[in-house]
Amino acid sequence: MAKKIKNTCSFCGRSDGEVSLMITGLNACICDSCARQAYEIASTTLDDEEPKSGKSKFNLNLNKIPKPKEIKEYLDQYVIGQDDAKRYLAVSVYNHYKRLGQQDDGSGVEIEKSNVIMVGPTGTGKTLLARSIAKLLNVPFTIVDATVFTEAGYVGEDVESILSRLLQVADFDVEATERGIVFIDEIDKIARKSDNPSITRDVSGEGVQQGLLKLLEGSMVNVPPKGGRKHPDQDYVHVNTRNILFICGGAFDGIERKIAQRLNTHVVGYDNVQANAKLDRENFMKYILPQDLKSFGLIPEIIGRLPVLTYLNPLDRTALRNILTEPKNSLVKQQIKLFEMDGIELSFEPEALEYMVDKAVEYKLGARGLRSIMEAVMVEAQYESPSWKEKKFVVTKDYAQERLEKANLPLSK
Ligand code: ADP
Repeated sequence: MAKKIKNTCSFCGRSDGEVSLMITGLNACICDSCARQAYEIASTTLDDEEPKSGKSKFNLNLNKIPKPKEIKEYLDQYVIGQDDAKRYLAVSVYNHYKRLGQQDDGSGVEIEKSNVIMVGPTGTGKTLLARSIAKLLNVPFTIVDATVFTEAGYVGEDVESILSRLLQVADFDVEATERGIVFIDEIDKIARKSDNPSITRDVSGEGVQQGLLKLLEGSMVNVPPKGGRKHPDQDYVHVNTRNILFICGGAFDGIERKIAQRLNTHVVGYDNVQANAKLDRENFMKYILPQDLKSFGLIPEIIGRLPVLTYLNPLDRTALRNILTEPKNSLVKQQIKLFEMDGIELSFEPEALEYMVDKAVEYKLGARGLRSIMEAVMVEAQYESPSWKEKKFVVTKDYAQERLEKANLPLSK
C-alpha cells in the first residue's frame, strides 16, 4: 500500500495551510509558488540551450543545395510527367540558392533573381511542384491566390499580406522568411482585360500587378504581421524580399490561341511553311514565349520579373493512371495506409483503378477529380471497416462502380 505522505511542499517545506495550492504527486508535493519558479527556471534554461540561429525549424544549408538532377529526381517521386517544368524549376531553384550563397568576389558579376512562372491547365501539378520543392529545401512555403488581392486603398487584401503568411509559416523568424518560397496561384486572373493600358483604374488587375512588382523585384517591405489590410497603428515587421523565390502559376485559359496566332502570323515563306508543318498542333503551350503573356494582359514589368517561363502539359489518361499509384504519397498508397492502421490489408483490382480513371477522363475532372472519385468509392468501406472481422479487402471494379453510382457526385461535364 502506498505510504501516506504529509502534505508539505517537498521543495520549500511549507505545509498545506501556508500555501494557496498544493499539487500532490506519487511520493512528493509541490506548492504553487515553487511550481512557478520551477517553470521559470526550466523555460529560461531551455531557451538558452537552443542555438540562436538554429531556433527555427527551417534550416536551409547553402553548402548542401541539391543539384538540379537531384531536385528533378526528388520531384519525380511526387509529380508525374511535366519533365520540362521540372527541369526549369530545378535549375532556377538551384541558381536561386547559389545566388544566396554568393560571396562578393569583386568581379562585378551579380546573379539575378530567377522567379518562375508556370503556365498550364488547372490541376496539372503546378502547386504540387512548388510545394514539393519547398519540402525538399526545408524553407518556409506559402500559397496565395492572386485573386484575393486588390490595389491599395480598395476592399480586399494588400499584396504585402503574402509576406504575412510566409512570416506566419516561418514562426515569425524573419531570416527564414527571407529565404522562403511563395507560390502565387491564378496569376492569370489579374491580367488586365485588354492589351491596351487602361485609362480608368483597374482595381483588380493592373493595380495588383503594380503592387506585386515591388515584391518580385526584391525590396524592403513593411509587413503587417497579422495580414489583412495595413493599418496606421500597426507595428510592422520589415522583410526583405530580395531572396524570396516567387513561383507564379496560372491556367491562362485561351493563351494557346494567342500562341497559335503568333506562330501563324510570323510564319511566312516556304521554309517557314515547312517549320510550321512540324509544329505540334496538339500542344501549342510548349511554344509559349513572354510576349504571349503580354498579349494575355500581364504588364511587361511583371513579365520581366518572372524570367523563367515554363509550361505544364494537360494530363492524359496514362498520366492520370500513374497519378493513382506511382507518386510516393499516391491516392492508392494513402488508402492502403489508412486501412493498415485498422489492421486491414487493402488492395485494388487493376480494373477498378482503370474504371476510376475512365470516370475522371469522362467528366474532364483531371487529377483533382481522381481524389473525389477515390473518396466517393472508399467512404463506405472507411466507415464500416474498423468494425469488420475480415482483415482483407479487395476493391473490385463492380464495387467501385456501385459506390460511385450511389455517391451522387456532382460529376459535371
Ligand atoms: P494546379 O496545377 O492547379 O496547381 P495542383 O498541383 O494543385 O494543380 O494539383 C491538384 C492535385 O492533383 C494535386 O494535389 C495532386 O494530388 C494531383 N496532381 C496534379 N497533377 C499531378 C501530377 N503531375 N502528378 C501527380 N499528382 C498530380
